[in-house]
Amino acid sequence: MRRRETVKLGRSRALDRSTTNDEQAQVRHKKQHAMQIDDGLYRRFDVRNTAFRALSRDLGRDWRDEWHRSIVSLVAQGKTAPKLAFEDPADALFHYGFQAGFGIVEDLAASWGLGQSSGKALCGVDFPTELADCRCTDKARLTREARRVARHCGAVLTGVAELDMRWMYAHVQRRNDGPGDTVGAAGGKGPPSSDEAFALPAGMKYVILVAVPMNRGMVSTAPSLLAGAATDLGYSQAAFCVLSVAAYVRGIGYQAIPSLNDTGLTIPMAVEAGLGELGRNGLLITREYGPCVRLAKVITDMPLLVDHPVDFGIQAYCDSCRECARRCAAGAISDGEPSHTGHNPCNNDGVLKWYVDAPKCLRYWMASGTSCSACIASCPFTWGRGWWLGLPQWLISHTRLLDGLISWLDRRFASRKQVEPAAFLAMDGR
Ligand code: SF4
Ligand code: SF4
Repeated sequence: MRRRETVKLGRSRALDRSTTNDEQAQVRHKKQHAMQIDDGLYRRFDVRNTAFRALSRDLGRDWRDEWHRSIVSLVAQGKTAPKLAFEDPADALFHYGFQAGFGIVEDLAASWGLGQSSGKALCGVDFPTELADCRCTDKARLTREARRVARHCGAVLTGVAELDMRWMYAHVQRRNDGPGDTVGAAGGKGPPSSDEAFALPAGMKYVILVAVPMNRGMVSTAPSLLAGAATDLGYSQAAFCVLSVAAYVRGIGYQAIPSLNDTGLTIPMAVEAGLGELGRNGLLITREYGPCVRLAKVITDMPLLVDHPVDFGIQAYCDSCRECARRCAAGAISDGEPSHTGHNPCNNDGVLKWYVDAPKCLRYWMASGTSCSACIASCPFTWGRGWWLGLPQWLISHTRLLDGLISWLDRRFASRKQVEPAAFLAMDGR
């Protein structure tokens, strides 16, 4: 029998733990380990196995082509989801415009490793050597200032983790449907990325994690084009944030790589950095915004103080809740127990969690002409203090005994019905 060693991430960490986010630490329950990992099973994830790429391979073309065709065909019928029809097709076209407009900045942030040929990774200015003597090396100050800059650029939550190479993708791939356009990863040492090699610059030791909030009103219309536009807007705002933070870090004399979901797995890094916990829906659940955030990161060699993983009882609550699994039209979310193994190669085995069947999810997107988001809209944590004035969160973070009762009450009395997109836009007044 294969021997499995379950190791807990975060053990033997030699780096200083942060004391700079005191205002957050006061309300956070520190957790010793971020995730349970079976090191006999876990391998760095091959980016070619992300559902986006796997499905494109199966289809023989970029999945987005088909998804876009599906959207266009809906909008041409005056619809923004199979069951959301407008009398005037022009109304649907406005929603299409939201989706097109809100995703444009996101497209500027490319994966590290694609080299200059992508023409997308905004590299910023070189640090002037004549300023080298001014460089600050005080970890606490550098951490505090980096958080401040991230907040100025739209982040509502920030954290720092030690860079764990297990979360970095094992490959990069230039096109979703490109077969052999992959360059090998050279681990944690080596020259800056070029067209020939995907290698992190030497000394990259930390990751700054940021979360930007998504528009809850738009998300409440899920599944719809408008909810998809909220995702795109969140990513574009996150891209703006990390492109700016990385340029700032380079401006004060350190190396920095801005990244969205490219280059490495962001969610486990965010768990390590204490931004939230991993939920049944496969998303990071933050205490303040639930899964209704978009995440991004900056990989850097700037000396920083790192944060702790947190335990607010959210993962434990997912045991009782299961609301996202009930609302998932694709049946992609597990309503069973967490496990160390997933459904298919689009899952990366080895981490104890609920695995989401990503190809099922993505096929639903293509069939519905939306990017769904029902698992965000249905999660009670999405509603923050709007969820009975935050009382359930307080109870969940202090005792597990009431989880079953709270989730029963929530199912019985909380109304999280899909909001009509037109009604939301009318309410929003903008
Ligand atoms: S986005 Fe929709 S289809 Fe995909 S996992 Fe969430 S609820 Fe299911
Ligand atoms: S909907 Fe419920 S089960 Fe799903 S992630 Fe949110 S709290 Fe967990």
